[in-house]
Amino acid sequence: MILGCHVNFGSRQLLGSVKQALSYGANTFMFYTGAPQNTIRKALDDQLTTEAQILMKNNNIDINKVICHAPYIINLANKENLDSWHFSINFLKQEIKRVSLLGVKYIVVHPGNYLKQDLMVALDNIAQALNAILDNSFDVMILLETMAGKGTECGKNMGEIKTIIDKVQYKDKIGVCLDTCHLNDSGVDIALFDYYLDEFDKYIGIDKIKCLHLNDSKNSLASHKDRHANIGYGTIGFNNLINCLYNPRLENIPKILETPYIDEFAPYKYEIDMLKTKTFNPNLETDVKN
Ligand code: ZN
Ligand code: FE
Ligand code: FE
Repeated sequence: MILGCHVNFGSRQLLGSVKQALSYGANTFMFYTGAPQNTIRKALDDQLTTEAQILMKNNNIDINKVICHAPYIINLANKENLDSWHFSINFLKQEIKRVSLLGVKYIVVHPGNYLKQDLMVALDNIAQALNAILDNSFDVMILLETMAGKGTECGKNMGEIKTIIDKVQYKDKIGVCLDTCHLNDSGVDIALFDYYLDEFDKYIGIDKIKCLHLNDSKNSLASHKDRHANIGYGTIGFNNLINCLYNPRLENIPKILETPYIDEFAPYKYEIDMLKTKTFNPNLETDVKN
């Protein structure tokens, strides 16, 4: 089982991320190369990268399964503001280079928001942007995340994801990241996750799924909201999330928790423990705070 969570990439860069992941009992992790909400990025420190890679090796963290996430403000869908569309393309190009210098192979990207445009035009804009970004320069794959369909988010169903992927030239550089909270909120019943995988395999190919964000949801099926809940504390429920995590068809892909902090405390150590032991912890809040 490859299970980890979102961690920080602070002043100690990737080394700090690895140490944090290990402190939670994780064997993989996901990070943003800076703040999730902006695109200000510091130069990478090679020494810290080397130390991080050694620490990963010594602790059996496979760097090939580590995930980077692009900042939220990147929007590849909207070409009405051409400057910001080009900015997003250029930022992702640089980000791919940065990620490859770290030795990481995957970067998750939200497909984007179409705002006032036509959905089909927006999907085409995303594909155009991806074709401007992707080539064979770096061994890094972009993973499109399945979205909840909040506002004008693209990627809220399999059809939209497929439409984008079909237009991408470098097929081996594009994949998908499923998010259980987003799927639930978009209208996919996680209790029937295996049917979803069957459909996905028919339309897109199950081998395109390279990461799973494992989150419970604060809202009901098809609510189009996107508010993550702690594992077993939402509408998806503990057993359904266990079934996703242990699904044999997704055995080799990393599962990443993006569940909310409880007060200022990260819940990940306790949630990872619940998931590994397949035992729901009804005292998560008190355990996390102590
Ligand atoms: Zn995401
Ligand atoms: Fe996610
Ligand atoms: Fe989300």
